Amino acid sequence: MKHNPGYFWKLTDFSGVEFLMLFHDGEILHQRENVLWSISDLRELEITDCQTLLLLESESCPYLALTLTDQQFLKLDAHKISLRQMLLDSSIENFSNAGKATQLLNWYNTHQYCGRCGAATVPHERERALTCGGCTLSFYPRINPCVIVLVVKENKVLLARHFGKASAFFSCLAGFMEVGETPEDTVVREVREEVGIEVENIRYIKSQSWPFPSQLMLGFFADYKSGEILVDGKEIAEANWFNVDALPITPAASISVAGQLIELFLKSFDMQNQLNK
Ligand SMILES: [Zn+2]
Repeated sequence: MKHNPGYFWKLTDFSGVEFLMLFHDGEILHQRENVLWSISDLRELEITDCQTLLLLESESCPYLALTLTDQQFLKLDAHKISLRQMLLDSSIENFSNAGKATQLLNWYNTHQYCGRCGAATVPHERERALTCGGCTLSFYPRINPCVIVLVVKENKVLLARHFGKASAFFSCLAGFMEVGETPEDTVVREVREEVGIEVENIRYIKSQSWPFPSQLMLGFFADYKSGEILVDGKEIAEANWFNVDALPITPAASISVAGQLIELFLKSFDMQNQLNK
């Protein structure tokens, strides 16, 4: 199978591509639960002068991502699903591919003009980048690093309930990295700002790409050092120490690194208890 050079594909040339992920109005299109469409599904759609982005460079199966117009969408016998719903209902692989496609399409749509001189951008010949036709400045897809941290104190973990949509859950503390910070600096600052606690012995555990809209979540454990819980009242509605035997509702480990951090701590705590018996 032969790839086109570069990351941008003209819709007039489908050689080497079998599958597409289709989008309309920010949601993913599917047909009988299948989110991958074949080239033959698109014959009726009269796609001509749009442009697609290469999604995956797998040797055996490259996917393209494409946003349909209203008219094209109406011609297709398709259902729509949001990325958040896919997180709950789809396989990890489908969610991960759809998350990557969503981020690339957002980036492409919001970088059609140069931020420095205002001229239109064009696809880079070899790299996944858009280059200014006026001043040649290039724009690459951006990810935003965040830390997420489980603060622990003996047999207790610090969990917080956030204001907003998912407010029934208690979860780890989290926040965006700022310019010039190491992830460990961010852990110290965020915990201090959100709940007024000082932490130490910060250790990296694992990470997760989180496409809402474009984060890289870096997961840590940190030990309590000093201070009393004092919530900021802006992001955090409530925070408490919870005994490992009496946890509130937390995010599922199957979908989020927050849930995985909690699960890992519970496992290591159990193992420690077994060793001490
Ligand atoms: Zn420019």
